[in-house]
Amino acid sequence: MSEPILGIDLGTTNSEVAIIQDGKPRVIEEDGDPILPSFVGLSEDGKLLVGKAARNQWVVAPERTIRSIKRKMGQDVKVTLGDQEYRPQEISAMILRGLKDRAAALLGTTVKKAVITVPAYFNDDQRNATREAGELAGLEVVRILNEPTAASLTYDPKNTELHRILVYDLGGGTFDVSIVQAQEGVIEVLSSHGDTQLGGDDFDELLFKHVVLKFQSEHGIDLSANVVSRARVLRAVENAKKELSYHPFVRLEEEFIAEKDGQALHLQMEIDRNDYEELIRPLLNRTMDCVQRALEDAKLAPSSLDKVVLVGGSTRTPLVSRLLEERLGQPAHQEVNPDLCVAMGAAIQAALIAGDDVGAVLVDITPHTLGIRCLDYMHGIDFPFRFAPIVRRNTPLPTSRSEMFATVADSQKEVEIEVYQGEHDDVRFNHKLGNFRITGLAQVPAGNQLTVQCDLNLDGILKVTAREKATGLQKNVTIENALSRFEGAEITEARDRLDRLWEQSASPDAADLEEEGEEYENDFAEDDDGMPELVPAPREGQRETVQARALLEKAERLLEKVPPEDKVELERMLKAVRNAVTDRQWDVVTKACNELSDVLFYLEDA
Ligand code: ADP
Ligand code: MG
Repeated sequence: MSEPILGIDLGTTNSEVAIIQDGKPRVIEEDGDPILPSFVGLSEDGKLLVGKAARNQWVVAPERTIRSIKRKMGQDVKVTLGDQEYRPQEISAMILRGLKDRAAALLGTTVKKAVITVPAYFNDDQRNATREAGELAGLEVVRILNEPTAASLTYDPKNTELHRILVYDLGGGTFDVSIVQAQEGVIEVLSSHGDTQLGGDDFDELLFKHVVLKFQSEHGIDLSANVVSRARVLRAVENAKKELSYHPFVRLEEEFIAEKDGQALHLQMEIDRNDYEELIRPLLNRTMDCVQRALEDAKLAPSSLDKVVLVGGSTRTPLVSRLLEERLGQPAHQEVNPDLCVAMGAAIQAALIAGDDVGAVLVDITPHTLGIRCLDYMHGIDFPFRFAPIVRRNTPLPTSRSEMFATVADSQKEVEIEVYQGEHDDVRFNHKLGNFRITGLAQVPAGNQLTVQCDLNLDGILKVTAREKATGLQKNVTIENALSRFEGAEITEARDRLDRLWEQSASPDAADLEEEGEEYENDFAEDDDGMPELVPAPREGQRETVQARALLEKAERLLEKVPPEDKVELERMLKAVRNAVTDRQWDVVTKACNELSDVLFYLEDA
């Protein structure tokens, strides 16, 4: 093996360093943490702090702490730290030194070379400043690499065929989307758009305001007025935000956060994922406009993208993948850790430069979606075989995810939980893994909320827990081999079954399916003795979105075939549907869909 070359992601909020070991990229940890916050500070007694320690003191000692220096790279400005002034590249050099020391400690040798990544939109000055920062840190910068290029390398470094990848990168303080084209080992950025003032920090801020206002209306105290309580609430909301990426609600608990009339006040608040998503949705819609523009600049239709890749910690927010999937009609991948994938890609590039052999980043993922059966009344009819996903396919392992459901009957005492694996939204085409009953529920009206949580480990052991939200009553089941049961012949069989059903009924409604389903052998018929007793906790606009997506797909296929004068009109209508979905104006969506549907009918006939 040749001299090691580091792969470095020098981020606005967080930085990481990776190397290649045994042909695979590995991000170097310190105290078990792969992330080095991009913060530099001076302690009270004048000691230099880099990373976590600097980040921790930022809220209480902003005058001694520098953050987001990346924003200033390439500018002719100085920042003050203590009684000294520094150029941006000097501050960045301190972060790079921190990363270099990490690597040296692991490797037991000094390291001299690095590939450092920058955003695709960085200009020459910003790139040169980054190179200079590397040199100040004692590193020879063998290449300045675009971040989206690095990310795309982690998925497929050896693919020589022409393929196009959309890289959506939402970090702490910046957002950018790039379309990358790779062929015969040459990777080129076709287009790039973004917003350098939009990221997870803004989500924290929105949630912070929400919490502070609510606390103020309850207790008449402004938590943002005091530095310490402000710092505590900020930290609590960032953690809550992360938690909401995996679970439908979260409880904030901060004891002794304030005092009133000599009495201690505690912060105890529940935050619902739906409410949180409504807070951040306008910001995410802005990112979707950038996606649209990047596609237009690259002159590509969504369907000509081979892959959509998620980068940046904030893409863990489920609404991001949902919106992207709605827009692009294909799933967004985050199998390679979104926080670490740029650093890993930089290490892969470093190995390619050194002529070392290197493969794609392989991670253990769930090959199939896991979820439960429930009743669906969202689509206008009661459909008793709805598959409600909890852990989506391609989720990295181990994982823990939960979703919210609600009871269908008043005073419902018990619920049967049936666990399935598969991709069809009708459970009868999926594979049943097991079932259990939770009994003794509170005697309340229909709509009693239950969370169902799936914990899946690397060995394929799945634990499914149902928990009544109001009381904490819970019951669980453990299923072995949840990773590999639905395979080969079973898939083919289920697919055949589906094909046969489809042939007989172009748009099968619930009744058809129920009848047909019984004619075929399947593994659910014997214990299918009634209606499911749960519905998914409804999400506004779900039905409209589904309808719009199906129509858009159809229209996009037709777009290539219609005469030019119709094409303009069709494109206008497509845009109207997309905009209405983005704006969440559900009656406008329905209207626009109806118009589009009429035109499609006419065009298909022509
Ligand atoms: P950058 O590349 O801009 O330096 P990162 O890609 O490291 O930043 O992203 C940092 C942001 O990701 C922070 O705002 C952090 O709160 C957010 N983040 C990290 N994990 C999660 C999560 N599980 N859910 C939502 N946001 C997250
Ligand atoms: Mg980043």
